[in-house]
Amino acid sequence: MDFDLSERSEQWRKRLSAFFDSEVLPRHRAWLERTAGSVEASPFMAELQQKARTAGLWNLGLPELAPDEPGTRLSNLEYAPLAEIMGRLFWASEVFNCQAPDVPNMIALQNCATPEQKARWLRPLLEAGTRSAFGMTEPDVASSDATNIATRMVRDGDDYIINGRKWFITGAAHPRCSFLIVMGVTNFDADRTRRHSCIIVPMDAPGVRLVRRLRWMGCEDHTAPIGELAFDNVRVSAANLLGAEGDGFKVAQIRLGPARIHHCMRSIGLCELPIELMMVRSAERTAFGRSVIQYDTVQRWIAESRVELEQARLLTYRCAWRLDQAGHHGASSSTKNWRDVSLIKVAVPAMLQRIADRALQVFGAMGGSDDAPIHQALAWGRLLRIGDGPDEVHLRQIFRMEVMPPWSIADSPYLAAHPS
Ligand SMILES: Cc1cc2nc3c(=O)[nH]c(=O)nc-3n(C[C@H](O)[C@H](O)[C@H](O)COP(=O)(O)OP(=O)(O)OC[C@H]3O[C@@H](n4cnc5c(N)ncnc54)[C@H](O)[C@@H]3O)c2cc1C
Repeated sequence: MDFDLSERSEQWRKRLSAFFDSEVLPRHRAWLERTAGSVEASPFMAELQQKARTAGLWNLGLPELAPDEPGTRLSNLEYAPLAEIMGRLFWASEVFNCQAPDVPNMIALQNCATPEQKARWLRPLLEAGTRSAFGMTEPDVASSDATNIATRMVRDGDDYIINGRKWFITGAAHPRCSFLIVMGVTNFDADRTRRHSCIIVPMDAPGVRLVRRLRWMGCEDHTAPIGELAFDNVRVSAANLLGAEGDGFKVAQIRLGPARIHHCMRSIGLCELPIELMMVRSAERTAFGRSVIQYDTVQRWIAESRVELEQARLLTYRCAWRLDQAGHHGASSSTKNWRDVSLIKVAVPAMLQRIADRALQVFGAMGGSDDAPIHQALAWGRLLRIGDGPDEVHLRQIFRMEVMPPWSIADSPYLAAHPS
């Protein structure tokens, strides 16, 4: 077992890090000023994307990138340290066309789309010519159980007619979002996991309506604004169906593995930031005659944050490695893989919350203000404990994979014999 990054991985990490330091970070203050007033995030995004693409730092999160598709094909494990760097700023992933929810959508399209669908929907995403969303969650049903999803997709000749409502759809309120993958019921009589299908719905299809924009814990997602959508008799060609009728769960699962692991990779990078900020801030402030960093409590918070972060990083790397061994199709059917994804999906957001909370405390009042990025990190950690499946669902999965030992307590070889 080798715990160092491979030479190739290290090279890519250095390249991306240098680009981030010279091109992305210096623009962060300008980005903050822009987004304080509007959603149209950055006038410099297209220019930065062009530079990143020229530098070969493009579409890095797609291990199954075909030779004729633009970008650099990296394994999940090679991508992990790069995603960490991008994760330090909420908007940085888009510079490299590595942002959610587009990348998981690209992976779903790579795996499930027909050649015509790929040309029409995947290609523009790979070129950053458009944005996309994924619509599963609904206001009227407990959507953590995907079998509850109730949007109706009724076949009518060569089309499907869609009726329903979706909310908390990341990216759906982005002005450049041109389509979303919608999950809905195509056959109420089928087995619970074969009732649903996924279909590509153009945002400009008649009957698709952006009801409102949503914020999460008071934070606006400027890179992929969240929308609530209504679908009123939306007619979409059956040629837009992703996979076969009844494949909805399969498509969603192919998409969800990478979606979750990428969020975890980015979150680990995001955790580095509050640790650094805690160090600097506490070194610069004096309270009761001492530098704040000299207090045991603060040193302990920083050290504990490091312990937790390194544990989570290792677990995430193992998950990435396993995903590489299985491929996305294999991953969606491999128990070991799902277990690893669930493990990091629970561990990383909780860690992010804890570390951001410590940093917020160290910063005092400023920690909760918009002048520091800490409360957004806290909100992001909180979101990830619900989004892409709440903690409880993952913990239940993890519990179910625990193996019952083949002995009773009375016979356990690990316990002292009970006196007769
Ligand atoms: C900011 C943000 C962005 C999002 N982006 C998207 C997106 O792009 N596309 C999309 O489709 N969805 C998106 N979501 C929705 C998200 O995936 C759902 O909120 C999540 O799956 C939970 O569904 P729900 O909100 O209906 O909660 P419910 O299903 O009503 O669950 C509520 C609570 O019930 C409890 N619970 C549920 N199941 C169990 C169980 N098995 N055991 C114990 N307790 C349980 C949990 O505490 C859970 O939090 C987003 C959500 C947020 C907050």
